[in-house]
Amino acid sequence: MNSIVDVKNLTKSFDGKKALKAINLVIEHKHMTALLGPSGSGKSTLLRHLSGLMFSDKAGGGEIKVLGKVVQSHGRASKDVRHCRSQAGYIFQQFNLVNRLTVMTNVLIGALSYTPTWRTLTGQFTTEQKQQAMAALERVGMAEFAHQRVSTLSGGQQQRVAIARALMQKAKIIFADEPIASLDPESSRIVMELLRDINQKEGIPVIVTLHQVEHALNYCQHVVALKEGEIFYQGESRELDRKAIESLYRGADKVIE
Ligand code: ADP
Ligand code: MG
Repeated sequence: MNSIVDVKNLTKSFDGKKALKAINLVIEHKHMTALLGPSGSGKSTLLRHLSGLMFSDKAGGGEIKVLGKVVQSHGRASKDVRHCRSQAGYIFQQFNLVNRLTVMTNVLIGALSYTPTWRTLTGQFTTEQKQQAMAALERVGMAEFAHQRVSTLSGGQQQRVAIARALMQKAKIIFADEPIASLDPESSRIVMELLRDINQKEGIPVIVTLHQVEHALNYCQHVVALKEGEIFYQGESRELDRKAIESLYRGADKVIE
């Protein structure tokens, strides 16, 4: 079987400073994987590369495959990059929903292969798509809010809508970048349980960046930890060397953003 993620020698520099330093990372299973590491260790940069939203250095930047397809190679998009992007559901800390639109419309946007403008949205979805969007909302427990504007929802509810949008997109892999960093503990629990449930029942691999080791232990079977742009640890979370991971955060100026 193909690996879920296969990163070879990935290097990314910003203004001459290396944010990712020749990273090699293979993830072969479909379990939920936590990406840990202090602020600035390169977690978001790595996720953006995996999803084809950002490109590596052109000289010696390495190669990235996701779900068996090359996303990019030495800073250049592969011929499959659009396909790779359409397969990757991306969940952001700040939800990235369109506030003035309804919950339903935000989910329907997941069915589009382009970024829509407000005007082009009206009346362009089929009945079948609307049924699928409603099913996705039911899946995340948000169906009763379908016709409300996103701006009326709490952060936890918005994150569930963002997950429904990824389901509507028929994402084959989900990258979640600090999905609970802006949420209260109860909403965090609901969102993490939902991601875990989708991972287990729908079989969609989830790679999630987290700030707290505790969350990784509670929800993820697998852990990858970054330190200053390098892989510091990779393994099963039940075998996690907690002390080693916690030492990562020592001296970090901010653990929780
Ligand atoms: P994390 O998500 O682990 O907090 P990031 O991936 O955001 O870390 O950042 C890793 C490093 O790369 C940091 O030093 C950060 O300042 C730098 N960096 C990230 N994105 C950019 C960017 N767009 N421009 C310049 N520097 C960046
Ligand atoms: Mg980040």
